[in-house]
Amino acid sequence: MGFEQWKEELEKNYADTVAWRRHLHAHPEPSFEEKETAKYVLEKLESFGVDDIQTNVGNGYGIVGKIKGKYPGPTVALRADFDALRVKEEVDLPFKSKREGIMHACGHDGHTASLLSVAKVMAQHKDELHGNIVLLHQHAEEVLPGGAKSMVEAGALKDVDYVFGIHLGADQPLNQVLYNVSFGSANSDSFTMKIQGKGGHGAAPHDTHDALTVGTQIVSGLQQIVSRMTDPVKPAVLTFAGFQAGGEAYNIIADTAEIKGTVRTLHKEVQQKVEHKLKQMSEMIASAYDATVEVDYKKGYPSIKNTPEEVEKVKDTFLSVFPESEVAEVKESMGGEDFAYFLEDKPGAFFRVGAQAPDNTAAFPHHHPKFEIDERSLLRSGEVFLAIISTYLQG
Ligand code: MN
Repeated sequence: MGFEQWKEELEKNYADTVAWRRHLHAHPEPSFEEKETAKYVLEKLESFGVDDIQTNVGNGYGIVGKIKGKYPGPTVALRADFDALRVKEEVDLPFKSKREGIMHACGHDGHTASLLSVAKVMAQHKDELHGNIVLLHQHAEEVLPGGAKSMVEAGALKDVDYVFGIHLGADQPLNQVLYNVSFGSANSDSFTMKIQGKGGHGAAPHDTHDALTVGTQIVSGLQQIVSRMTDPVKPAVLTFAGFQAGGEAYNIIADTAEIKGTVRTLHKEVQQKVEHKLKQMSEMIASAYDATVEVDYKKGYPSIKNTPEEVEKVKDTFLSVFPESEVAEVKESMGGEDFAYFLEDKPGAFFRVGAQAPDNTAAFPHHHPKFEIDERSLLRSGEVFLAIISTYLQG
């Protein structure tokens, strides 16, 4: 009884799990539009005999279900997101996306299929559970404001004691289980700067306020924020991703310029400092050249803060059920993830599961049109969920 038996049943269900993942992969839906996906997940949960299923939870198609254990104990929530991206798939697979310009390019189809498989197995073993499992099938992870925050606000974690999530990583070797005792993702903010100068003839710069050169001063001047103004042991990333100024002509001085980019930080105080300096310095630089700048700074998802005690507990289980070489600590990531909102509400952790095929010489990054996962990772991610269940609910 317990983990080993659940794992055997998960293995028996592997062909079905792959079929579910392939169905989702062939029928991707972008964030906030996952109507058919939610219907598919709902039908599966109902057929497994999951209790208390709620649909349309939060600001979209979120689904919450419960597997009520026979004995009293804690309630552990497990989350899988199910949205796809507006990316045109370039991989030739029999289950390639049937929807033009939409693709499961982040592995959320895999998250969903493996959590469904876990739900199927555990619904058969309620009688062994000392506590309950809450299944969080989340919509819209990829697009702000995301689905997680609204699911928390709708009460999805009301009776929950711990919350856990996983993400497949096509950039990590197959079957690697990766934990992190601090930050699992970054505060992910974005900004747009609109510079207003005064255009004019390329031969008469003294009669203009060149928006293009003001922009270049801002781009180079703001590099000092990260190199000189933030604590070097608390990371910050300031990336300028776009710069538009001027046009086709070689003799016209630009009237306006537009710059955009992203700011990634782990700590709130660093985030606040970068935001403040970014606005202050760009305004001062623009004004020094008699131009103006309007800065629109948008805060994105907060950083994931894993609960160290819970990471330690679950890690001990990982080490007892997986080969030691397949469990590793991973350093902080500067990516963005709205799972952060669940962890702002309840203790828990976010783990990564390697999904890169051993023979995959062309591993493409997440969100790439050629992104692919090794499907054997579905089994390992399911086992990770089972290990979490066994840590808290095996009695
Ligand atoms: Mn993702």
